[in-house]
Amino acid sequence: MDIPIQVTRSSMPTLNEYIEEIKDLWESRLLTNQGAKHNQLEVELADYLVVSNVALFTNGHLALEYILEVFQLKGEVITTPFTFASTTHAIVRSGLTPVFADINPNDYTMQTDNLESLITEKTSAIMPVHVYGNICNVKEIERIAQKYNLKVIYDAAHAFGVTVNGESIANFGDASMFSFHATKVFNTIEGGALTFKDSNLKNVIEAYKNFGITGPETVEYIGGNSKMNEFQAAMGLCNLRNVEREIEKRRLVYERYLENLSDVVGIVLPRIAKGVISNYSYFPVLFDSEKISRDEIHHDLMKHNIYTRKYFYPLTNQLECYQSKFAPNYTPIAQLISEKILTLPLYADLHLDDVDRICKIIKTKLVLNQLNIY
Ligand SMILES: *Cc1c(COP(=O)(O)O)cnc(C)c1O
Repeated sequence: MDIPIQVTRSSMPTLNEYIEEIKDLWESRLLTNQGAKHNQLEVELADYLVVSNVALFTNGHLALEYILEVFQLKGEVITTPFTFASTTHAIVRSGLTPVFADINPNDYTMQTDNLESLITEKTSAIMPVHVYGNICNVKEIERIAQKYNLKVIYDAAHAFGVTVNGESIANFGDASMFSFHATKVFNTIEGGALTFKDSNLKNVIEAYKNFGITGPETVEYIGGNSKMNEFQAAMGLCNLRNVEREIEKRRLVYERYLENLSDVVGIVLPRIAKGVISNYSYFPVLFDSEKISRDEIHHDLMKHNIYTRKYFYPLTNQLECYQSKFAPNYTPIAQLISEKILTLPLYADLHLDDVDRICKIIKTKLVLNQLNIY
């Protein structure tokens, strides 16, 4: 049996590079609380993401929860069900009510045509997701947010380093959350960051992630603990040095999938919008053949020790924990997409031969099925 191919594999520096990076921690003995590594990574990320304000967190999810709290939001937040549980959980765990907008059938981001009809007097924010690194309709979302005086917080967990017409994705909305989880394009083992517009928020956010402490004898906010430690930051410094090379390797894998699958009937491949420089974070494929289901392909590949993910299935408005909690809203496009989509293995070190092999299995399955017509 071939060695298993997982859907993702973490990018890492060489062991020596990491050891070099963490060595001075044995001198300083400062392991967390805005250490030197933390502060250096913050500066380097502001530079890389072309933003003025960055705050680092122990993970991306808590960054979302904290920004909802810092903005003191109430009532309803319009969001998308076609995302990781984290997006919806952050809203609900903050005592807010999610209201689900449907998604676009082509890029899977939040639909903006009917967005205004979801706004009520209780709406306080919009939380869209740049899913798979596809950019939301940021202009229209901004227009609507301004008209109704709503905050916009992007879940940009998938979109690290993406630019559109030369502009960094981190600059849209009032704030964006990036995840630096081990499985993401750029990782700090676990980790995350907020980028945000209003520089006045910097001290508040920093205080919130450290128990609300603002001075040696003052605690101004009921904060929690969500600090990024020095070992995480050191991993980030190493990975950031190599991230361009890793993205380039991802691009080759992505292109190889396109080459192999572009003429195949019954599948819809991802597209990168005009003007966008992608980070090649995922390779989502839509199986829209009547005769062969996404689940069959998923199982077929598994028999060959190749692991794909039904990302995102189920929708977050269908999760067990939310049954009878709030109106799930009817999101038929998201429903359809979630039943047909499969993300194929994609990581920097995936061999192109393996991509060919994965594609061959998919093609064989689809073609055999076409033949069954006769
Ligand atoms: C990974 C991810 C998160 C959560 O980030 P963590 O760093 O794992 O907490 C949130 N939203 C989306 C869309 C994600 O993919």
